[in-house]
Amino acid sequence: MTEAASSKSAGSHRLVIRNIGLLLSGDLEQPILNADTVVAVDGRIVSVGQEKDLDVGNATTVIDARGTTLSPGLIDSHVHPVAGDWTPRQNQLGWIDSYMHGGVTTMISAGEVHTPGRPKDVVGLKAMAICAQRSFNAFRPGGVKIHAGAPVIEHGMVEDDFKELAAAGVTILGEVGLGSVKDGKTARQMVAWARKYGIQSTIHTGGPSIPGSSLIDKDIVLETDADVIGHINGGHTALPDDQITALCEKSSRALEIVHNGNERAALLTLRTAKELNQLRRVILGTDSPAGSGVQPLGILRMISMLASLGEVPAEVAICFATGNTANIRNLDCGLIAPGKAANFVLMDKAQHSSGKDLLESIQRGDLPGIGLIIIDGVVSTQRSRNTPPATRIPEVMTR
Ligand SMILES: [Zn+2]
Repeated sequence: MTEAASSKSAGSHRLVIRNIGLLLSGDLEQPILNADTVVAVDGRIVSVGQEKDLDVGNATTVIDARGTTLSPGLIDSHVHPVAGDWTPRQNQLGWIDSYMHGGVTTMISAGEVHTPGRPKDVVGLKAMAICAQRSFNAFRPGGVKIHAGAPVIEHGMVEDDFKELAAAGVTILGEVGLGSVKDGKTARQMVAWARKYGIQSTIHTGGPSIPGSSLIDKDIVLETDADVIGHINGGHTALPDDQITALCEKSSRALEIVHNGNERAALLTLRTAKELNQLRRVILGTDSPAGSGVQPLGILRMISMLASLGEVPAEVAICFATGNTANIRNLDCGLIAPGKAANFVLMDKAQHSSGKDLLESIQRGDLPGIGLIIIDGVVSTQRSRNTPPATRIPEVMTR
């Protein structure tokens, strides 16, 4: 709750959000902050606290939250983008913009594997990854920040390939196991090379997702030791229970639970992580577009499902899709704190939810209603076209 930066230089955009009814931090250590106001300058949070204690003058934009809840923008840890805002998986346009209407402000690619004619030779897969990294860095449907350019490892890659990818700006690998490398020994070597050059890795876990992919069991996951145990609840076919609990117990890597996975296995993972006192490892993704389509509300649905059936407080479930993911993925968002990206979701309980307030409505399995989305300090949308309507919505006043 300190002023992070001098914020009054000429021409800067100063955003003040006041009258926040409930402030969710995204931080598991303290998921609810005693604050009603957030100030951001040029897309970065500069102060968080009570309005009476903050400098709220000279605002370019003032938002009266009208007692609604502010949370960090949601992060989808597992998507498969292809090009622009199109997916060939179900041949849909505008899917990323639709996810923004579900509260998602940041996406992580787990590989651009649905690209028609995806190259599998080493030169080709590197070229495609670099192209995806560049194009999604420059093109942001709905304002959503997409971290893409995630090559899928294939036999024949050598250490220099990872060095070259890193130098070209690639920071993540696509799901290990979706290419020709499916044995733990080779995968472990390539993941280690990637890590050496600062490239993070994810491994496909469980049965094959679509014709052409294959089973990756717990022994391969443990041997590979990727940074993220991708869709530990299967994508969609889950591993047997004893293998899922073994992954929670024997690895210290992130436990990624996805929407397009097995819900029972998701709850088993959550319960095991809770027993191990390792909820910090739990992150959420949709693993979409997929055979079951695109899910604009997928991350919100996961939050409600885990809170209502998994016996974790709603404010903790929201941390799985915000601060936890940002921490594991080294992102500058996902937390309401000075210095972080000004990515916000303002929401309220949906109209006619039986819960008495937002958190109780989620706890009862309802979805929240979104009234405003802000990405990098800029309003991306007011009332969401996809969530159930929020009871109250914020008011935006621009000077
Ligand atoms: Zn997968």
